[in-house]
Amino acid sequence: MPTENRKAYHVGEGSEGEHVITFACSSAQARREGGNELNLTFEEVSFCRRAPWADEFAGQPFIPAKAYHDQGWWLYCNNCETQLYEDAEDEDGNPLQIVYAGRHAYCDQDCKDSRDKLIADANAKGDAFKEKVLAERPDLTFGEFSIGYPHITMSATFKFPGCQYGGSVRDQEDSGELHWYIAQGDKAAWDLYQRGRAA
Ligand SMILES: [Zn+2]
Repeated sequence: MPTENRKAYHVGEGSEGEHVITFACSSAQARREGGNELNLTFEEVSFCRRAPWADEFAGQPFIPAKAYHDQGWWLYCNNCETQLYEDAEDEDGNPLQIVYAGRHAYCDQDCKDSRDKLIADANAKGDAFKEKVLAERPDLTFGEFSIGYPHITMSATFKFPGCQYGGSVRDQEDSGELHWYIAQGDKAAWDLYQRGRAA
């Protein structure tokens, strides 16, 4: 469906519930799709109204956090989950120095820095995992690596000569040790392959 026909709708569960901006060609479609997004049935959606301010974001990957705030929406800090509204204050009554970055908002630069560091650390850990895996078993053919932010468990799948299903490797306990798994149906093929490799 061409995005230029899509208009923004504000779909919500009620004043206490969750709200979402959804893009649709009609109010009925918005109610259905917005409701899906909020895990509500069509009837449970308590309101669905046009949100012309968001029309310009149709077809965009996200609506900037700043645009939500300009409309009076509350957001949560993407680092510490503090509820942020545009004129939020800290404990001493000073206005928060809210930092906007794309779809996210942060209490202040410190929160953004913490978040950035967390992501950078996770990605660095992922790179180290991949390097270690490849160094330990250069003989295997690896598929996709599920590593880096936001993965908690790092893993990769692999194939080996003679396999039918293959296996996977993961770094589960954060111990730095690699755990190798072989599909049940490939155990015999793996043993054979390993023996051939050791010979
Ligand atoms: Zn924060």
